[in-house]
Amino acid sequence: MDNCIFCKIAAKQTPSTIVYEDDDLLAFKDINPAAPVHLLVIPKIHLDTLSSAKAEHEALLGKILGLAPKLAAEHGCAPVLQADGKYTGGYKTLINTGTDGGQEVYHLHLHVIGGPQPWRGQS
Ligand code: AMP
Ligand code: ZN
Repeated sequence: MDNCIFCKIAAKQTPSTIVYEDDDLLAFKDINPAAPVHLLVIPKIHLDTLSSAKAEHEALLGKILGLAPKLAAEHGCAPVLQADGKYTGGYKTLINTGTDGGQEVYHLHLHVIGGPQPWRGQS
């Protein structure tokens, strides 16, 4: 789609730090990270919001979500079960939708945010 920054990233017309790519998805580092690990997973096709996804996109949505734990593990954010039964590590997954959802870029994307308490300081 014209004038969509994430379509341009997917088309390699705009530079980004790509951490994963396949036929359907691209993942890259957020340009303004909110935590030590802040990745964005996008479909290569343009969907402006999560609410634009239809039944035909369910497999794609599953792929996007399924990639998150793999990327998080590769970037050192996998949750780890300790001997005392408590977890350390982990990450946050987030999709902002629409104005009231805080969406700034209208090309569907999943945030993968990791590091110590990465949600602190975020609204
Ligand atoms: P959202 O509020 O969910 O739409 O988040 C959009 C995210 O895209 C923000 O975290 C931005 O920092 C990020 N972003 C915007 N432009 C770029 C870019 N060119 N490369 C990487 N991340 C970007
Ligand atoms: Zn787009």
